[in-house]
Amino acid sequence: MELTPTILFKNHTGEELAVLLAPFGVNPKLAGKLQSAVLRNALDEVPKVMEQTSWRVLKKVENATRIPTLQLIDKQVSPRDGFTKYLFKGEGDEPFETVRIPLLHVKGQEKYVVCVSSQVGCAMGCAFCATAKMGFRRNLQPWEIVDQVIQIRKDSSYPVRGVVFMGMGEPMLNYDKVIQAATILREPCGLAIDARNITISTVGVVPGIRRFTREKQPYRLVVSLTSANSEKRKSLLPVENTHSLEELMSAVREYQEYSGVRMMLAWTMMSGINTSPEDAKEIARLTAGMPVKIDLIDVNDPTGVFLKPSAEELKTFRDSLNAELGQPVVRRYSGGQDINAGCGMLAGLHMVEPDKTSCASMPSHS
Ligand code: SF4
Repeated sequence: MELTPTILFKNHTGEELAVLLAPFGVNPKLAGKLQSAVLRNALDEVPKVMEQTSWRVLKKVENATRIPTLQLIDKQVSPRDGFTKYLFKGEGDEPFETVRIPLLHVKGQEKYVVCVSSQVGCAMGCAFCATAKMGFRRNLQPWEIVDQVIQIRKDSSYPVRGVVFMGMGEPMLNYDKVIQAATILREPCGLAIDARNITISTVGVVPGIRRFTREKQPYRLVVSLTSANSEKRKSLLPVENTHSLEELMSAVREYQEYSGVRMMLAWTMMSGINTSPEDAKEIARLTAGMPVKIDLIDVNDPTGVFLKPSAEELKTFRDSLNAELGQPVVRRYSGGQDINAGCGMLAGLHMVEPDKTSCASMPSHS
């Protein structure tokens, strides 16, 4: 006898649930109602009662499905800025982290953005990132990504209006699961988060960017550039050895032309390494003719090898960017550093110790 496989609720889009639940007498409208009841109310079992629905149908759905839920291992709130870091366990033994970013400055419009992980650990080896030091452990399943948002919504007194795939992992290396999760987060019977408020970030995995463009994905894309000089980039972001700046920028231009949006390029600033007027010139050369926005982020390196620029260095760099580029340059606040929740600081239970052998600042790679 063939056993019916268990349907994992949070793994499926509304359309898939409609097909999977049809044999149990569920029509597409009811499938949508069930999906929204489970996801929006963070239920861990199928409702026992629903308007205009027979209990027999609900019982059959209950028997055929499972609603997996992440286990919360730890939660830390930054006393400095309210950033909150959650440590979750999903299908495997290794926990992973999620950060809740508070946007509470406009009275009456308080909201949160959730920074989700897409993998446990990461294979990309970026020089300044704590996650890189863990190495790659595994890809997260769609439900494990979706449930990071569901559990944080449940724990929050203001709505979650945005999701950024900037936690642990390189989203483009778990492409199918990431896009599946983003679909569930955005669809009307899912969590109904506006696609324009879902941002997928990559360090430069070109096949993923090209696929994202080809598939006309509605989400925002951010590419971490961090150096516009190939040799320097190789020493900071090893992805440059596989996908060169030339190849990357060709894929980025293709995406920008199709989407028509101003291309967001992230730049992790490291003192003495990538914040000189020459770096600004190189960015201008690389992006000539393309509408871009440069997103400056201070490096957060718990080992102390890479340092953020001083106020004076930052000002010179910004002035050079404004003069060379003539396009928007913003500085992203990277909060939660006091609880190791800042960009590049997520390492699960793995402690990242200060590097006592290194001097305070690396010599310039240029
Ligand atoms: S910065 Fe992102 S892509 Fe690079 S190692 Fe860290 S998690 Fe991976």
